[in-house]
Amino acid sequence: MQLTAEQQKAIDEQKEHCPFCKIIRGEIAAQKVYEDDLFLCVLDINPGTEGHTLLVPKEHYPIMPLIPPETLSKMATLTAQLCGALRKAIVTGKVQAFIANGGAAGQQSSHFLIHILPDKQGPLFPAGESEQTHQLQRMLASRFGSTSKDTLTKIIAENPELKRMIIEQPDELIKNLPTAPDLQKIFHGVDIKVLSQKLREQEAPKATQLSDEQLVSFINSKEKLRELLLNDIESLEMAIETQPKLKHFFTGTKIANIRERYLRASGNV
Ligand SMILES: [Zn+2]
Repeated sequence: MQLTAEQQKAIDEQKEHCPFCKIIRGEIAAQKVYEDDLFLCVLDINPGTEGHTLLVPKEHYPIMPLIPPETLSKMATLTAQLCGALRKAIVTGKVQAFIANGGAAGQQSSHFLIHILPDKQGPLFPAGESEQTHQLQRMLASRFGSTSKDTLTKIIAENPELKRMIIEQPDELIKNLPTAPDLQKIFHGVDIKVLSQKLREQEAPKATQLSDEQLVSFINSKEKLRELLLNDIESLEMAIETQPKLKHFFTGTKIANIRERYLRASGNV
């Protein structure tokens, strides 16, 4: 787009007062996250979300059509790279790239830029069962290929039924995978049996792994266990034999030791 002398003069005047030009000239400090000869990326001073990043051309272009095609194409490539980098850095499945081109579209700065907004808060999968949920799951699973550990943790935390299934019926889950492409993608490269074991351990800690404080709070949260531990060791011994979670809890120690620790730590001696 060819500018008239008048338009060029207006742009030169804008540059004088433009905060982004000032950042680029080094007159204002900014949190730079990336820089090359054409572009600068800074964290937004009024972030809409954690990691809200601005991709700013070093040249002052008031609107997108004034950007030379070659520069614009590099800007698009860089946007995609930044989205990927932010997705990893912020650990989220959602990163939005946002362009407000022109005042009518909500462009607030006279210096054209692209907003990149990671969304850590938004649930990876919306709650509830709907076609939309499934679609989103498919989309995310295909985008991630094999699910990252953090993503998997998040998926499990947000889907209690899935978690239950992993813990209680890992074999069933493994058997169902070939007919459930969504699940297959989520668990690609994951050893479900190992995961099941890990989740079970998280749910049911070993007494020996807990600090005194954790031990007291865990036992206090299990009324029946507390009752037996304090008053009926024999029944507790029997319960341990039949309940894998309890057995796991007392692995590697004696009931009497745990009882003593509990009494001492809870101040009941
Ligand atoms: Zn500027």
